[in-house]
Amino acid sequence: MSDRLRIAVQKKGRLADDSFALLKACGLRFSIRGGSLLARVKNMPIDLLLVRDDDIPSFVSNDAADIGIVGENVLVEEQLTGELDADIAMRLGFSRCKLCLAAPERGAVKSSDDLAGTRIATTYPGVTARFLRERGIEAKLVEMKGAVELAPSIGVAESICDLVSSGATLEANGLAAFETILNSEAALIRSSRTLSPEKADLLDKLMRRIEGVIKSAETKYIMLNAPKSQISAITELLPGSDAPTVMPLAGNDDLVAIQAVCTETVFWETLEGLKSLGARSILVLPIEKMMS
Ligand code: ATP
Ligand code: ZN
Repeated sequence: MSDRLRIAVQKKGRLADDSFALLKACGLRFSIRGGSLLARVKNMPIDLLLVRDDDIPSFVSNDAADIGIVGENVLVEEQLTGELDADIAMRLGFSRCKLCLAAPERGAVKSSDDLAGTRIATTYPGVTARFLRERGIEAKLVEMKGAVELAPSIGVAESICDLVSSGATLEANGLAAFETILNSEAALIRSSRTLSPEKADLLDKLMRRIEGVIKSAETKYIMLNAPKSQISAITELLPGSDAPTVMPLAGNDDLVAIQAVCTETVFWETLEGLKSLGARSILVLPIEKMMS
């Protein structure tokens, strides 16, 4: 294969935009054109292979790509149903969803205790079968390619096992989830093959940048003015920051300026708490890049 690192990415769909945005935030410059299978990264020896998400694990496994970005749900299903040399290198924090068992709200199946002897429709036969095996439940799997939520109403199954994010699709079809069998998010996957030293270095660099991007998305810079007497109480309230900068304010002996990097989400409740301790002029600023 070429000496350019090849990353398999979903061409279009619920993973695609966030995958492209993450790679762009890591400094990769590329543009996606309509029908093309490959996008060349202009400023680094990297190519993007633009494909359907279901093909990403096997492309990585078969050396059509060095690494890929795909949902854990798809990866685990492929691991369970085929010979696959691909595993998670890092989780990416987007495209979160879960694989759930669900059944009609007014039907006979209310929990997994009721599944024995029934039919379960799914596009995830591998993960569903694993769950049934682990629980010692004997049920029949009805494999479908899509529109699984319709299975109970057309009478091909008593329950379904499908991806859920907001639950709106289930609700619209009169279904209720009763058990989560897999939590999923997008992940960077790779095979066990050894990469050339150049590609290995590039992958290391990319993964460090991804870590930085994920971290900086949650991290904020907080600036505020506070009464001197409250410095320690305020420091304690700042989420995930250990050593804030405290500076005098010109012409004011009672107040100080406090600045800190907060590595955890800053909620409105935190700001209200700071205010009740006497903090004023509170600013929360985004951090564009960070590297530790
Ligand atoms: P393709 O045409 O590439 O096969 P698809 O129709 O199989 O696409 P999408 O609906 O684009 O797949 O979903 C891709 C992945 O995004 C899912 O496998 C899952 O990991 C994740 N996902 C599913 N639902 C959501 C959601 N509501 N929000 C965010 N991510 C989701
Ligand atoms: Zn797909």
